[in-house]
Amino acid sequence: MDAGCVCPPHDPQEAIYNQRMKITAVETLVCNARMRNWVFVKVVTDQPGLIGWGEATLEWQTRSVVGAVEDFAQLIVGEDPRRVEYLWQMMFRQHFWHAHDITRSTALSGIDIALWDIIGKIHGVPCHQLWGGPVRDYIRTYCHLGGGKMEDFYETPVEDAKRFGELALAAVENGFTAMKSMAVPPTMPLEGLRPVKRAEAAVAAMRDAVGDDIDLMVDCHARPSPAMGLKFGKALDPYGLYFYEEPCWPENVEGLAMINDAITTPVASGERVTVLEDFVRLFAARACDVCQMDLTHVGGFTQARRVAALADAHRVALAPHNPQGPVSTAASLEFGFSQPGYIICETVHEDVPWRKDVVTESFTIEPEGRIVRPHSQPGLGISINEEEIAKHPFEQEIPQVVFYPDGAIGDW
Ligand SMILES: [Mg+2]
Repeated sequence: MDAGCVCPPHDPQEAIYNQRMKITAVETLVCNARMRNWVFVKVVTDQPGLIGWGEATLEWQTRSVVGAVEDFAQLIVGEDPRRVEYLWQMMFRQHFWHAHDITRSTALSGIDIALWDIIGKIHGVPCHQLWGGPVRDYIRTYCHLGGGKMEDFYETPVEDAKRFGELALAAVENGFTAMKSMAVPPTMPLEGLRPVKRAEAAVAAMRDAVGDDIDLMVDCHARPSPAMGLKFGKALDPYGLYFYEEPCWPENVEGLAMINDAITTPVASGERVTVLEDFVRLFAARACDVCQMDLTHVGGFTQARRVAALADAHRVALAPHNPQGPVSTAASLEFGFSQPGYIICETVHEDVPWRKDVVTESFTIEPEGRIVRPHSQPGLGISINEEEIAKHPFEQEIPQVVFYPDGAIGDW
């Protein structure tokens, strides 16, 4: 090195980075919220008061995810929490088995989100400021019919078109400008006109109830075969859905692409996809126009930012899947403020009446239009009430099973 080199001016962050800092524990807190067990991940550091929160909720796999977090802990305890990408790589690539199966990818996501929360707290800025600052003034949110009350959303029979209309109107009266329903029933790989007509009647009832200014979405839960997904899609096309979600199995990229090509309504998919290369295939095939990657499953913010870049290159919109708990919602919003392609945040607000007791959020949802503006609190801007969580310990999730009329297994 040239002896005459000029040292860079003192950087206040340098002091932080010269400090030793390490992760001392990675813990999970399970909170039963009726349909789901919310799995909160707490990353603890050796710095007084410096902790990060993430979420790794995975329905019907709570014990597995908790175990997976425990397995990852042995890799990262003792490491510097500020090396987020390094730790992501450590969790993804060490231990031989790549962590893209849904269980470990969810566990990894919970830890990654908590690490970014820590980085925000170290720098005293919200997470979205770490990624270049807000790209929009507000984020629009949408609800499930019934606000996430599982009986209304999952169990309103598609024959009851009137009820679909009533629930859609109630959402508008609650301030929402967009909402999602499950108006497509489970069907065998091939069925006739009856289920298609019923789905159409349910969507027509919602459209009649709310008018053209409200955005309606239908989630098929990947119940239909590609042939049935096409039939439903064609029947619902005239109702101008905002998006048409999982009209066939997410693994079936060709089926999704065929449907997306055949209808005007944009197809949405990606909530169950975790492998980066699978997103490449999904986008290259134009199999969806809305990417629903889930921040708590895809590999946290670190992997979501890579997927978002791929989506951006294909001009595919982002509408992350988020029926989970409050940390997941805070994460989706932070991500949304940083991503140009982000269009809307999924929310459930009435799954359990004590939702707000578990977490204190820095953002507020404006009652008119249900929009959220950026906050200025560090990290995710949330604090978790651990005593409140302790009031709702783990319970086995309520089983959700589907059988066809002949007794064969269907998709929930
Ligand atoms: Mg879905």
